[in-house]
Amino acid sequence: MGTTVGIWAHPDDEVFVSGGLLADAARRGERVVCIYLTNGEAGLSYGQPSSPVALANLRQRELQASLALLGVRERRFFGYPDGCLPLVSRRDVISRIHEALVELQPDEIVTFGSDGFTGHPDHKALSASVRAAMSLCDQPGARLNEVVMSTEWKDAFVPALNEFDAFWPGHPATFDDPDISLRLDDELLDIKVDALRAHASQMKHLFDAYGDRFMRAMASKEHYRVSRVRKGEEAAALSSNSNADMASWDRSASVSYA
Ligand SMILES: [Zn+2]
Repeated sequence: MGTTVGIWAHPDDEVFVSGGLLADAARRGERVVCIYLTNGEAGLSYGQPSSPVALANLRQRELQASLALLGVRERRFFGYPDGCLPLVSRRDVISRIHEALVELQPDEIVTFGSDGFTGHPDHKALSASVRAAMSLCDQPGARLNEVVMSTEWKDAFVPALNEFDAFWPGHPATFDDPDISLRLDDELLDIKVDALRAHASQMKHLFDAYGDRFMRAMASKEHYRVSRVRKGEEAAALSSNSNADMASWDRSASVSYA
């Protein structure tokens, strides 16, 4: 059986864009690991401001429940500051992702594309760092599955989601020639919607506003652009470390959990 590794910026990224793919891999008996660069301590809790520690702890519990529904048994956290990934040393981020890839030896990697889906700067920084980390790996390496959205999906769901400021201007980018289009079967769709609901602090307002039918329709399809990253392909990214001097992030300062 293969190994699929999802690499994300925040808890809940995984289920929103690729809950079906991850649950399908788990259902087929693959090892599935999700890596999170932050603990998700920034932002809102049920639409309201929250203390970072309280929110991070709440999101940990929600993530644990959500991943259990998807069948994902392994999760890891790098503890970078939520909302500040573009300011963190790229070398450090790339190095830690690379270390994980060397250890896990995935067959498939799933993450955001360069548009970052919502356009969140953390998502974009993550996407670039994943490609750079993959370019350090021995070849042929894993397949890279980057999340893409169709024009149909954007037209159908983004206006409603943007009632809650889900997307940055101009996002998501659309890509209508994906390599993989996954239409979730009833079992996978039930799992994904339940797993979305488990992230209650981040999703309840959407379920309340638009209802299960909207959420099921939104969750029912996933699209991916698939590629391989050649060794050294992202050399420019590795030689550029312009962010490093802007950040003095101390890993030991990351939130700890009981
Ligand atoms: Zn995110």
